[in-house]
Amino acid sequence: MTYMLVLAVVLLIVGAVLILLKRESANANHAASDSPDQTQSPENFEVSSLLEATLAGMREGLLVVDKDMRVVASNPAAHKLFNPSVPALQSQRLTELTRNPAIYSAFLDGLKGIERSGVKVETHGPERQIFDLRVVPIGNVNGNGAKGALGVFFDITRTERLEHVRQEFLSNVSHELRTPLTAIIAFVETLETGAMEDPESSQRFLSIIRKNASRMHGLIDDILELTAIEGGNVQLRAAPVPLHSLVQDVCASLAAKAAASNVTLKNNVAAEVTVQADARRLEQMLTNLVDNGIKFSRENGTVVISHESGTRDHILVHDNGDGIPAQHLERLFERFYRVDRARSRDMGGTGLGLAIVKHLALLHGGEVTVTSELGKGSTFTIHLPKA
Ligand code: ADP
Repeated sequence: MTYMLVLAVVLLIVGAVLILLKRESANANHAASDSPDQTQSPENFEVSSLLEATLAGMREGLLVVDKDMRVVASNPAAHKLFNPSVPALQSQRLTELTRNPAIYSAFLDGLKGIERSGVKVETHGPERQIFDLRVVPIGNVNGNGAKGALGVFFDITRTERLEHVRQEFLSNVSHELRTPLTAIIAFVETLETGAMEDPESSQRFLSIIRKNASRMHGLIDDILELTAIEGGNVQLRAAPVPLHSLVQDVCASLAAKAAASNVTLKNNVAAEVTVQADARRLEQMLTNLVDNGIKFSRENGTVVISHESGTRDHILVHDNGDGIPAQHLERLFERFYRVDRARSRDMGGTGLGLAIVKHLALLHGGEVTVTSELGKGSTFTIHLPKA
């Protein structure tokens, strides 16, 4: 649909370029005959200013070459794409602008009267960009080929990046689902082939099946949650939240898990503190962080939740666990990123918890950060804007 629209604009521009080329040659003829009348009619002025505005306003790079492969027209987007240090692209040879063989051969085909589309062009400057190039011949194609060729560079960097992220996400999801599913199938088969007769093993196998099924369930829940947040389908209801009692609720819901690992939970938030947040979502974020604190804590460890006030509200979740090696900190909030994949899986982790926390914090207009020291523990901080 977009392509059709852009193609329509391109055809309009081709028409306009042809009008300009015609006018230029008419002007040249006038000049040759020393005609005193060099002024433009009001209609012509309208066409050229319209054309100029269209070219300047287009996000697509536009380049027109004559049959000697010299640039005869271009717009600012093309200029930015090729060589921003050169004052103008006009009258440069295409080979001086780029060594990219894909671009050159597409324009060469254009000059031969062959339309080319879907030519993928990548730039390798400081900012990697990907373009979809379409080249059309200009003018009637006769035995000598076309009069010129017009190329439109559609910027598809964002689309390509999104596609890459989507594919990576899908392959991660498939992989994460396949692991518990394989275990479930294997243990069901073992039960079917006789283990069911032995009550002790069948009990053990059933509990492994249950654990893996719960993991799949948790993973699907987290994926749906993350998709809803990222898709903008989660509406926040921010209001003043009494932080002490919210943290109390979080600790209560995780008390059994903490006790099972001999971890002490400490609510160090003063009774009068309120923060501006969506209570349910803040509880979700803190549950994730405290849960991680328990999971990655040492035996007899402590997880402390505290609050600091500055230009923003800072809610800190500190544990005295093993800590996280510095090289992992930058990527920790990415989906499925885990320092120790096997350990995370073993503890029923999905690798999506911190990504959910990150997105919820962003949705609040805030952020989440982490500091950690190996052997001493980690501190995750949610920073929230004040009301
Ligand atoms: P999950 O806990 O399900 O594996 P998360 O997204 O919550 O996924 O966390 C990602 C990874 O970050 C964990 O697998 C773990 O390696 C690391 N991590 C998170 N919290 C802590 C913590 N408090 N201490 C040490 N490592 C942590």
